[in-house]
Amino acid sequence: MNRPFTFINSAMSADGKISTWQRKQVRISGAIDFDRVDELRATSDAVMVGIGTVLADDPSLTVKSAQRKAERKAKGLCENPARIIIDSQARTPIDADIFKKGEGQRIVVVSSSAPSDNVEVLREKARIIINGDTKVDLPYAMEQLHNLGIKRLMVEGGATLNWAMLSNGLVDEVYTFVGNVIIGGQMAPTLVDGEGFTDTSTLPLEMISAENIEAGLLLKWKVLNLRK
Ligand code: NAP
Repeated sequence: MNRPFTFINSAMSADGKISTWQRKQVRISGAIDFDRVDELRATSDAVMVGIGTVLADDPSLTVKSAQRKAERKAKGLCENPARIIIDSQARTPIDADIFKKGEGQRIVVVSSSAPSDNVEVLREKARIIINGDTKVDLPYAMEQLHNLGIKRLMVEGGATLNWAMLSNGLVDEVYTFVGNVIIGGQMAPTLVDGEGFTDTSTLPLEMISAENIEAGLLLKWKVLNLRK
């Protein structure tokens, strides 16, 4: 199966949470890590999030550094990588920051059960890919994105999409910044939620590196047992 080289990048608290139980964003990392994330975006063909993250955080997912934007331009690219939302029911608000901010391609992947009125409204703002009956078929979506020329894909969460991508064997590497804060809360999203693996089928990782950044730790993992 042809799919992009795919990595998840996320910031989590020391107790593994990626936001509060109210799904409110928390500052977990600092300026140096933000800059690292900006570099990852600038060097990716596309950045992808789940609809849960769009509704909770309304991120723009743009490249922030003027120099990196200029470097992309000099290579004949848009200032920003393509921005992709995984959104089975076409719930993405038309005034989402992903549509409002920055230039570049937007792609919304919806299922065939998405209300057609919503899909048509989104079509004015984004390329629409339809696949899956009630949920987006992620393995198929990865193949389609690869065919569109997306060879390097950055997944920026959230917890449910991270699970779906990992459990489908669609992720090559996972980068987590672990910040010096405890968030707590049984209902707070963690790096990977979803159903979870059973004790006999966990997903093994191999450490690439562990590096101190500001008051936290950047962990880079290679995912083993991938479905290629
Ligand atoms: P999410 O992972 O962003 O989006 C999940 C949604 O994607 C699902 O509910 C589902 O909604 C849709 N989806 C479509 N096809 C799917 C498929 N095949 N498999 C799984 N999901 C599919 O949402 P979340 O888990 O609620 O995470 C959001 C939270 O993460 C927020 O609190 C946000 O602040 C946090 N976050 C933190 C970071 C960080 O680095 N700290 C980064 C990103 C997000 P439909 O069924 O409607 O399509």
